[in-house]
Amino acid sequence: MKEVKSPQKPLIYYYCIVLLIIVLFNLLIAPLLSQSQVTEVDYGTFMDMIEQRDIGLVQVEDTQILFTDRAETVVYKTGPMEDPTLTERLHDAGARFGRVIEEPMSPLLTWFLTFILPILIFIGLGQYMSRKLMNQAGGKNAMSFGMGRSSAKVYVPSTQGIRFADVAGEDEAKESLQEIVDYLHNPAKYTEAGASMPKGILLVGPPGTGKTMLAKAVAGESGVPFFSISGSEFVEMFVGMGASKVRDLFRQAKEKAPCIVFIDEIDAIGQKRSSGSGYGGNDEREQTLNQLLTEMDGFEGNTGVIILAATNRPESLDPALTRPGRFDRRVPVELPDLAGREAILKVHARKIKTGEDVDFHTIARMAAGASGAELANIVNEAALRAVRSGRTIVNEADLEESIEVVIAGYQKKNAVLSDREKRVVACHEIGHALVAALQSHSAPVQKITIIPRTSGALGYTMQVETGDKYLMSKEEIEDKIATYTGGRAAEEVVFGQITTGASNDIEQATKLARAMITRYGMSDEFDMVAMETVTNQYLGGDTSLACSAETQREIDRKVVELVKRQHEKARKILEDNRAKLDELAGFLYEKETITGEQFMDILKGGAEQ
Ligand code: ADP
Repeated sequence: MKEVKSPQKPLIYYYCIVLLIIVLFNLLIAPLLSQSQVTEVDYGTFMDMIEQRDIGLVQVEDTQILFTDRAETVVYKTGPMEDPTLTERLHDAGARFGRVIEEPMSPLLTWFLTFILPILIFIGLGQYMSRKLMNQAGGKNAMSFGMGRSSAKVYVPSTQGIRFADVAGEDEAKESLQEIVDYLHNPAKYTEAGASMPKGILLVGPPGTGKTMLAKAVAGESGVPFFSISGSEFVEMFVGMGASKVRDLFRQAKEKAPCIVFIDEIDAIGQKRSSGSGYGGNDEREQTLNQLLTEMDGFEGNTGVIILAATNRPESLDPALTRPGRFDRRVPVELPDLAGREAILKVHARKIKTGEDVDFHTIARMAAGASGAELANIVNEAALRAVRSGRTIVNEADLEESIEVVIAGYQKKNAVLSDREKRVVACHEIGHALVAALQSHSAPVQKITIIPRTSGALGYTMQVETGDKYLMSKEEIEDKIATYTGGRAAEEVVFGQITTGASNDIEQATKLARAMITRYGMSDEFDMVAMETVTNQYLGGDTSLACSAETQREIDRKVVELVKRQHEKARKILEDNRAKLDELAGFLYEKETITGEQFMDILKGGAEQ
């Protein structure tokens, strides 16, 4: 779609003009005004003028004598002389004594005029403009300053718009949105039946799952204008500006109806309002939210303006925003499943040339948990890798390597590990792989490598599930924890010494063990009591504790016990298979990267079961 931009002059532009005028006035005009026309003459001329009685007003000072001619048209100036009879002669000549020119301005006044006054003008201007914007009814005045104008990007419908076919997977989301498209094509059908469209539709899901794409696809399919703005763009420095932007956005949308308004990251303005008003709250955000609620109430469902909003923090939204009549339809846009991942990979692979050997199903399996955006990135990384190797066709190896790049970062070519470190890393990784392979509930090993990565990993073992997994049994989680501890256990068994290499494993194992007890109800002691609740399901799954300090201590004790038990189990497995551990570690040390098949071949070649 083509983007149409509206010209805007920011506030700073007007401030600059005022500043320039003040500077010019001070530098050029003011000095001219303060200089009155005084002609300097010698004392002799002064004497002559007294003789000729051509003297009007006289002002005798210590440092100068100022005087005018009889007609008082020209002001003269001369230096003072020792002349005791001067006053008398002047008097005789008919001169009047008084002020010839006004007293020059006092330094205080000058300072006030040149320094304080401009600042006052500045502040006054700011105050005036912000008050004007707050009071204005239709927002028109503010628009003339370029402030409070919504910065929504407007896309006009075009044939190259994104379509539903471009958004792979996400079939449920597409189905719910299809109705909107149908309504925009044929509103009469709905009005006849007395049905009105939901005013707002909230797309919720983790980042990069295609929410923006879906919104654009709705516009693309319906062939209507598309307004796109991010929630954070509403929040401005001046109070009242966000509300004004909301008004402007809706005004524009109503003019262009039927159309779609898309507000990305609506949580930036739609967060729950604080209970106590005043200093603690965020006035600007709340005013913006209130304005949005008012605008949404203000138009009927059949005006043809459909508001789509996206968020990955639905739990933080103000309930007023999600109640029926506002964002009353909620469309989940979840991470893609195996089939979805495969479809997304294929959509993005249309833009590149792929070799015969590429199996998108395998790649999709390897990329478990990846979002649409990450998959798009994987395909692009693979294409870049092909170009680096001087090819135009992307092969399977490019795609596999790019998954590793996205997961673990680039290979660190210049990382120099000492021989012993390399042996420790090989042993550590084989520890993970062996424990995984010798348990009955672990995912198969796909690849083991000890090539350091830019993410800091010195090596890693990649396990890939054969299909999608929605549930995990207690035994599977326990085996997973044992696999995490396998690396450290191998170091203990082989070297009798432990290293810092296990820090990430420790973190993962603890997280799992903790979740088993506090969230999955997998301990006898606490049964099915929730001790922790997930507060942020789409962004890292943060949890908050909901139990007493005493219970927390008890949980900690249980977590330690659980991890310790699995660690011992892992050590036992490795001790029992010491010969295989040494053989495999030696092989990995030599090859640096081995596949799951190579690993299994050596393991099966007479493993002690
Ligand atoms: P979100 O708004 O959910 O954070 P986006 O819609 O901005 O995510 O997606 C970012 C990019 O990821 C898109 O430009 C697209 O290339 C890719 N992408 C995400 N989901 C999909 C999908 N389902 N199908 C195809 N591409 C996708």
